[in-house]
Amino acid sequence: MTRQGTIPFFAPDLFEDDRDVLIDLVRRTGTDPGQKFILGERTAAFEDALRDTLGAAHVVACSSGTSALTLVLTAMGVGPDDEVIVPAYGCAPLGNTVANLGATPVFADVDPLTMVADPERVEEAVTSRTKALMPAHMFSVMADMPAMRQLADRHGLRLLEDSAVAQGGVLDGRPAGTWGDAGVFSFVQVKTFGMPGEGGAVVTDDPELARVVRALRNHGQEGQRFVHQRIGCNSRFDELLAAFQLHRLPGLPARLERRAQIADYYTERFTPLTDRGITPPPPGRNGRCHYVYSVLADERDALQAHLAAHGVDSHVYYPQPLPHQPAFARFAPPGQTWPHALAASRRQLALPINPRLTDAETEHIADTVCAFSTGLPAA
Ligand SMILES: *Cc1c(COP(=O)(O)O)cnc(C)c1O
Repeated sequence: MTRQGTIPFFAPDLFEDDRDVLIDLVRRTGTDPGQKFILGERTAAFEDALRDTLGAAHVVACSSGTSALTLVLTAMGVGPDDEVIVPAYGCAPLGNTVANLGATPVFADVDPLTMVADPERVEEAVTSRTKALMPAHMFSVMADMPAMRQLADRHGLRLLEDSAVAQGGVLDGRPAGTWGDAGVFSFVQVKTFGMPGEGGAVVTDDPELARVVRALRNHGQEGQRFVHQRIGCNSRFDELLAAFQLHRLPGLPARLERRAQIADYYTERFTPLTDRGITPPPPGRNGRCHYVYSVLADERDALQAHLAAHGVDSHVYYPQPLPHQPAFARFAPPGQTWPHALAASRRQLALPINPRLTDAETEHIADTVCAFSTGLPAA
C-alpha cells in the first residue's frame, strides 16, 4: 500500500472547520462595548452549558486542568502533613499538584491491563494522614470509581476524580467528572474537548467546594472586589475561549462517537493479537474514554519503529512510573516497587485516534499493527 506522508498522532487541522467562527469571535469579543475578556457572561454561559451536559450542580471554569486539581485540593484543605493517594502511573500533575501544596503524593500501583489505580493497592496505602484519594482516568479506561467511592466513604476521605481526559465518558450511566466530591476537565488543545489555548473546569455537586473554588480562582475574592476572604490565585477563564467552546460543544458528542468507533474497530482487530504479545483495552463502551487509544506490546519499541516505517506516528505515554521520575524520587519510599506501573511504562503504546482520521487511515494503522504481529512468535 502506498501512502503519502505520515498519519499524525494529533490532527494538525483540529479547528479547520471552525476557523472562520474563531476569527469572527475574536472580532466580536474584541469590539464588544463591554470590553470584558475574562470571567464575563460568556464564561458563565459556558459553565451553565457544561452543567447541563453533566447534570452536575456546579461547574467552575478555570485556567487549566492542573489548576482545577490544585483549586479542589486547596478547597479540600490539603496541605503539609496530609497525604493524597494517586496512581503510580500517569501524568505529572497527579504528583506535582499535591507536592506544590506541601502535601505528600502517595503512589499506588495500577491494574496491569487497564493501567488505572488498583483499589486494593490504594486501600493498602491509606494511613492516618491520608486526606484524599485522587484516581485518574487513563487512556481508554475510566478508573474504578464505584470502588474508589466505597473506599473514600469507608475511610472518611475526600475523593477527587481526575477526569481531565475523560469528558463524555460514562460509567454505569454516570458521567465522568461526577463520581468524586469533585471532578476536573482539561481543555488544552489535544484533549477530547480541546481548544486553541489553555483552560479547565471543576465539576462538583458540593455547594461549599464550588463556592470556595470559585473564590480561589480569582484571588480569594467572594462577591466584593478587593476583599480577600482567603489566599487564592489567578486561575481565571478567557471570554474568547468560552465563546469558542460554546460554539464547539454541540459537535462534541459526534466527535466522541467517532473516537469510540475507531476504538471499537481497533479493539476488534487487535483482540486476536493478545497471544502474540499485543493487548488492546477491554472491549465495550461502559466506562471508556478515548482521549488516547493504547495497546500494551511486549515488543513496544520495535512496534513503534515498525509503525513509523509505515507512516504511522505513535506516542509512548509515560516512559517511567511517577515515583521513578527524578522530580518525585523523594516521595518514593526506599524498597517500594510498583511492578505494574513499571510494566506499563515499558509496554504502553498509543495509536492515533483523533476524530479527523479517515476509515482508510484507521485501516492502515490496524493493518500495520497486525502485520507486525505476524512476525512475532505465538505464545
Ligand atoms: C492533561 C491532564 C491534566 C492537566 O491538564 P492541563 O489542562 O494540561 O493542565 C491532568 N490530569 C490528567 C490525567 C491529564 O491528562
